[in-house]
Amino acid sequence: MNTYCPVCGFDLGFLSWEGDSPSDEICPSCGIQYGYDDVAGGDVKQRKEVYSKWRETWIKNGHSWFSQNKQPKDWNPVKQLERVI
Ligand SMILES: [Zn+2]
Repeated sequence: MNTYCPVCGFDLGFLSWEGDSPSDEICPSCGIQYGYDDVAGGDVKQRKEVYSKWRETWIKNGHSWFSQNKQPKDWNPVKQLERVI
């Protein structure tokens, strides 16, 4: 299992979801909160759509770093996206 953000491909270092349990964390890269923004009524298929919409919007807005914390020095949003698209 990888620990990539399903939206933007950022390596979170933790699982966004473990089975039916969301981490409740926020991706520092794209800003989605697992278990909140992606609940999708508990429908896994629907959740994928949430992810692709979120990704689209994030890219359209210039895929900028979301977190208040500094982005990693070698952060490359385009490269990490290759993990999920
Ligand atoms: Zn993300």
